[in-house]
This record gives sequence, C-alpha cells and structure tokens, in this order.
Amino acid sequence: MSKMLQFVDRPAQMPSKQDAAARVGNFQELYAPFPQKQAAEQSSRCSQCGVPFCQTGCPLQNNIPDWLKLAAEGRMAEAYQLSASTNNLPEICGRICPQDRLCEGSCVLEISDHEAVTIGAIEKHITEEAWKTGLIVPIIPAAERSESVGIIGAGPAGMSAAEELRKLGYQVHVYDRHDRAGGLMIYGIPNFKLEKEVVERRTLHLEQSGVVFHLNTDIGRDMTFEDLRSRHDAVLVATGVYQSRDLKAPGVSLAGIEPALDFLTAYNRLCLGDALEAETKARFDVSGKNVVVVGGGDTAMDCVRTSIRQQAASVTCLYRRDQANMPGSQREVQNAIDEGILFDWLKTPQAFLGEAGARVEAVRVQEMRLGQADTQGRRRVEAVAEGITTRKADMVILALGFEPEPMQEMLDSRLDVTEWQTLRASVDDGRTSMDGVYAAGDIVRGASLVVWAIRDARLAVESIHADLQQKAIAA
Ligand SMILES: Cc1cc2nc3c(=O)[nH]c(=O)nc-3n(C[C@H](O)[C@H](O)[C@H](O)COP(=O)(O)OP(=O)(O)OC[C@H]3O[C@@H](n4cnc5c(N)ncnc54)[C@H](O)[C@@H]3O)c2cc1C
Ligand code: SF4
Repeated sequence: MSKMLQFVDRPAQMPSKQDAAARVGNFQELYAPFPQKQAAEQSSRCSQCGVPFCQTGCPLQNNIPDWLKLAAEGRMAEAYQLSASTNNLPEICGRICPQDRLCEGSCVLEISDHEAVTIGAIEKHITEEAWKTGLIVPIIPAAERSESVGIIGAGPAGMSAAEELRKLGYQVHVYDRHDRAGGLMIYGIPNFKLEKEVVERRTLHLEQSGVVFHLNTDIGRDMTFEDLRSRHDAVLVATGVYQSRDLKAPGVSLAGIEPALDFLTAYNRLCLGDALEAETKARFDVSGKNVVVVGGGDTAMDCVRTSIRQQAASVTCLYRRDQANMPGSQREVQNAIDEGILFDWLKTPQAFLGEAGARVEAVRVQEMRLGQADTQGRRRVEAVAEGITTRKADMVILALGFEPEPMQEMLDSRLDVTEWQTLRASVDDGRTSMDGVYAAGDIVRGASLVVWAIRDARLAVESIHADLQQKAIAA
C-alpha cells in the first residue's frame, strides 16, 4: 500500500518537457510519457479529500481521488477501468483539457498553495499504460440490438456517443463530411498538443468494435437529413460549429489574410502525411514572414505556435483584452510566450493596409483599455483615443471564434435553434425539438471543449437508450 498525502515532501512535477528552443523545430507533443515510478509518486501527493473539489471541477465528474490512489499503488488496470468508466477519451483529455481551469484549478492543494496534483498527466499515463498492456480491446456487447442509431459528426461528441451506444448493443453508423474521423481533434488541434496517432487509434478501436463510419458524406448535401432519419431509429447531431466569425475592417479582403481553421487544417494534413497541393502550400507558407494572429483563445494560441514552428520571421498575437482575461488555458499561453511569441495585449486591428487587390503589408492597430464589467461580469473593452500604431504584417490569421452553420437550412427547418443559431437541445439530455433527434457537443453549447462534448454525448446516449426502450415496450 502506498502512502498518500505526500504533497508536503513531494513537489508537483509534470513529465519531462522538450525545451522551447528544441520544440519550435518540430511538431511533436511537448511532454514525454511519465515513467511509472514518477506517475505513482505524483499520484501519492493527492490529499484524498472527503469532498473532492477536483471531481466537481471536472465536467465528467471523474472519480479522480480513487484512480490517483490506485495509480499510486501501481494497480494500473483498476485505475484504468475506473477512469474509463466516466470518460471515453481519457488519454485525450489528459493531454488537452485546460486543467488549470478545471480539475487542477479546483484541487485543494492548488487552493492552499501546495500546487495541484498533476491530474491530467496522470490520467494520460493511466490510459497509455492500458493501451500498452492490451487492456483496451474491441467492444463485444452482451447482446446485439436490432435498432440502429445514425450519428452526424465524428468529433469527440460523435465518437463518445458511438462507443457508449455500441456498449449497449446498438448498430451505430457515423457520418462525417471529412475523409477522417476525429473532428477538430484531427483537423483543428495541432500535433504538438495532440499527436494524430492518438486520435486515429481511437477511430480504429471504434471500427473494430463494430461502428460503421461513412466518411466523405456531408449530410444536407450528399444525403438528406430525411433520408438519414429514415435509415435509423434515432439520430444524434454532433456537427460542431464551423463558421468563422468575421472581422469587419477596411482591407480585410487583401491577400494573405486567412481564416485560422484553414491554416491549421493544412498543417494537420501535413502531420498526417498528406501531400498539400502547391496552391495550398504557397497560401499557408509562413516561413520568413511577419505573422500577426488576431484573437486570444485556444485557436489563436494554436496558430501562433504553428507559425513559429514553420520558421516565421516574427509572430505576434493581437488580443483586445489583457493576459488575465484571455479565454484559453494559461498554461498554453505560457508555452507560447516561452516559444518566442510576442503578445500585444489590449490591441485590436483597425485596418489592414496594402495595395488594393494585392497582399497585406501592415496592420493598423487600435489600443484598447478595460472598462466597466458587463452583465456577465466580464469587463468591456473601449478604444483609447489617439492610441493608434502600425505593425508590419506579411500574413494575418484571423482566430476570432466560430459560429454554427445554418442548421435549419442544412438539416431540417423543424429543428429549433437558439438566438445564437446553436441547436436548441438540453445539455442534460440532448433531446431536440424533433422526436428521435438528439444533439450534443459544440452544436448545442457553441464553441467549447472536448471534455464537455464527451459529457453531453454520454447524457444524450442515456436519453436515446431510454426512449428506444420505451418505444420497444409500446410497440
Ligand atoms: C484550433 C482549435 C483548438 C482547440 N483546442 C482545444 C483544446 O486544447 N482543448 C479542448 O478541450 N478543446 C479544444 N478545442 C475545442 C474542441 O476541439 C471542440 O470543443 C470539440 O472538438 C467539439 O466536439 P464536437 O464533437 O461537438 O465537434 P467537432 O469536433 O467539431 O466535430 C464535428 C464533426 O462533424 C462533422 N460535420 C459537421 N457538419 C456535418 C454534416 N453536415 N455532415 C457530416 N458531417 C458533418 C465535421 O466534419 C466534424 O468532423 C479547440 C478547437 C479548435 C478549433
Ligand atoms: S477529463 Fe479533463 S477536467 Fe476531467 S480530470 Fe481529466 S483532465 Fe481533468
């Protein structure tokens, strides 16, 4: 039995990390795997709180103190079973959840200045061990059911729902417009945060478990929603949000001003071994260029860090609030600072400068300051009179967030949407305004996190199962 509560004698440690100078030369993940001994030692720092705040801070309510104790005792198979019982993608969450805002930010040790248990790194370690030791095997349901469920979208919401439905014995078909499953985990989030093999391993696991993927199938274009509904007993919409938010500023249509997701997708394809067309390569080539990224969230951080890895001459992030008010993970912001990104906080583009019809040459920048808090407590930003400067830019990447595509037009006019155009569905049960149609993930919440997509998908599956059973009884 390992002793717990070792936080006084043992400082918090992350696994070893590539230093900044080395990592900007490659697209590999930053952190090495935890050696088992170090993972056990770090797990033993947990104070085993009676009311674990870390669990409350985790959207999946993961049973963190218990799997930390099992990991500290070297009982890795049990640690994995417990961890996997609430999370379909634990090795992915362990890598890319903003733990500083979720589980680790709520850890009692963090609150009492002892530094949080490195929960994410240990969660990743537990599941990587399970893969290594052959614990993760294809699902064989206790009994097959005749009912089938169609899932639109193979992102984390769609993949998690597919796994839960297969465990229950349903026939599961996942449709995606892309040529690979994974959603933003494959074509959005860069390799240095989440290596592509990690996602592809999960896709293969689902295929081997009997999930049928229909890739290159855009619902609403290649197949109508009505047709899809007629093929399945229930449908889950997990399409994410993909419409880039626009910026209205003079000169925004100059060449060399690019949307973030197109830029990231191109480099993710390269990491996956795809050959880029010459035109795409030239369009997103940042080597030797002065790159300006506009935005302050996860997507902006991924763009600045991709650019520096592609030998940009300089990379600057323009964000209209200050560092403390950045929406993404502070850990990722620090990684970007260490990698040599320049941050211009409290700045917003006022205009993009260049010859009409030619390439962008500079950005005219407006200085901002934080004003009164709005109704949600977030301080508004206001322009500082006279605070205008110009910054050289050979390429500008716009990372201002994403909005839903027009769902009623794309799928069905009977689907209720909210004022933000997200699908109107309860995040607690996934039911939409149409009988037999459920929704989960970003298309319900708006741009969010992988861990919330998993949570919503699991709850939607509970509703699908309950409703299909009810229908079977009534039939
Ligand atoms: C650049 C970037 C970085 C991010 N970094 C992080 C991070 O570090 N940590 C984190 O937790 N979250 C991060 N996120 C957010 C996270 O990726 C999303 O919250 C999550 O992927 C949402 O999951 P989802 O399944 O709802 O949608 P998605 O992952 O968007 O998947 C939706 C899928 O639906 C498919 N689809 C859409 N419409 C159709 C249609 N009509 N027919 C067929 N298929 C369709 C799409 O092709 C896609 O594969 C990041 C997002 C971006 C853009
Ligand atoms: S799923 Fe995310 S928030 Fe929950 S324990 Fe894992 S890393 Fe923390």
